[in-house]
Amino acid sequence: MDRIILHCDMNNFYASVETLLNPKLKGKPVAVCGSLEERHGIVLSKSEEAKAFGVKTGEAIWQAKQKCPDLLIVSPHYEEYLKYSKLAREIYYDYTNQVEPFGIDECWLDCTGSVHLFGSGIDIANQLRKRIKEELGLTISVGVSFNKVFAKLASDLKKPDATTVIMRENFKEIVWPLEVSAMIGIGRATTAKLRSYGIDTLGELAKSPPSFLKHLLGINGITLWKYANGMDDSIVYDADYKAPVKSIGHGVTCTADLVNNEEVKNVFMELSFNVSKRLKENGLEANGVQISVRDEKFFTKQYQTKTPYPIQNSIELAQIATELFIKRYDWKTNVRSLAIRAIDLTKAGAGFQMKLFCDYISHDKKERLDTAIQKIKNKYGKKSITFASLMGNIKMPEEITEVITLPAGVHLL
Ligand SMILES: [Mg+2]
Repeated sequence: MDRIILHCDMNNFYASVETLLNPKLKGKPVAVCGSLEERHGIVLSKSEEAKAFGVKTGEAIWQAKQKCPDLLIVSPHYEEYLKYSKLAREIYYDYTNQVEPFGIDECWLDCTGSVHLFGSGIDIANQLRKRIKEELGLTISVGVSFNKVFAKLASDLKKPDATTVIMRENFKEIVWPLEVSAMIGIGRATTAKLRSYGIDTLGELAKSPPSFLKHLLGINGITLWKYANGMDDSIVYDADYKAPVKSIGHGVTCTADLVNNEEVKNVFMELSFNVSKRLKENGLEANGVQISVRDEKFFTKQYQTKTPYPIQNSIELAQIATELFIKRYDWKTNVRSLAIRAIDLTKAGAGFQMKLFCDYISHDKKERLDTAIQKIKNKYGKKSITFASLMGNIKMPEEITEVITLPAGVHLL
C-alpha cells in the first residue's frame, strides 16, 4: 500500500503573522524586510496584495517599491514566527506523531497510520487547513502524495489555502510538464546545467538515462532521476527522532559584497568559530570541508575538499575553506553570502592514520590555541578575544539570525 504523506506550507508566513499582530495591515501590500541598516533591505516575505504587484522574495526594497510604490515595509519579529510555527505543529501532532519540520513554516506529515481515525489524506489536509485558519488565523497550502518530494511539490502548486493531490496514477500528467526547478533539490546551478543539455522539464529528467545524469551531476544525478520517477522512499522522521549529526555548518549574508580574498578569509574565520564550537560540543571532528558561495547575482556554487587529518579547530577549518575558495572561485562577480560546513564527521579522538608530509605539530598547536580562545569566549563573552584581522569592519551583521538546517536525506544542490 502506498504511504500517505502530507506537506503543509504556511502561506506568506512572516507577512501573515505581521498582519495578525497589526490588523491595520490587512488587505494591504505588505513586505517583511531584513534589517534596514545592514544590507540595503531584502524582502523576506510578502502579502498576497504585494505579490499581485509582482513583489518577490529576495529582491531589494527599492526594486519592490518600484513595482509597488505604496508597499508597507515591516521589520521581522522572529519570536512571533517561532510561536506560531510551534502552534501549527501542535495541531499537526493531533493527526500523527510523524511530523518533520523543514524550515520554520513547512512540515511533512506521514498520515499512513492515521487514515482509519481521521479519513483519507485529502480529508486530513482539509481538516488541517480549517483548523489552522480557525485556531491561528493563518492559512496553509497542503500537498498530498505517496512520497515526500511530490507532497512538497504539490503544496507549491496551489496557494493560498488549498489542497493539491498527486497520486501514483496521475503523477506523470501533473509533475512531468513542470520545469525542473519546481522539484526540491534542484537549485539554480543544477537547473542551468540540465538546461544546457536540453533537459527543461521533470518529464525530460525522468526519461534521461541515469548513467548520463550521473556523469553530469555525480551521485545526485541518480537521486534526482529517482525523485522525478516517483521513487523517493525517504521517511518522515517522527517527533522523537534525533537525526545523527551529518554535518555542521554556518553561513551569512554579508552587509556589503566581498571584493577580495582577504575579506573572504575574514568571514570564514568568523564563521569557523561557531562551526568549531559546535563540533566540540558534539564531540565530532571534520574530515572534509564544504563551502557555499553565493555571488551578487544570487548564483550559488558549492565546493568541497578532504582535510589531511580530522580537524576540530576553527583556524584550520577557515584556512582550508579559504584555500579552497581561492583555488576555485574566479572572481568574475563579487561575493554576497558565504557558508562553511564541516563534513565527513567522525567521533573526536577516534584516532587516524598518520601520513607523511603533514605538519602535525603545527596542527596540534592550532587545536590547543583554538581551545584556549574558545574557553575565554565562553567565560567572558563572544567579543572578549579574537584575531586582530577580525577587529575592523568585516562586513558581517551583528547577529546572524539566518540559520539553515537541512533534514537528513535532503540535499540542496
Ligand atoms: Mg511558506
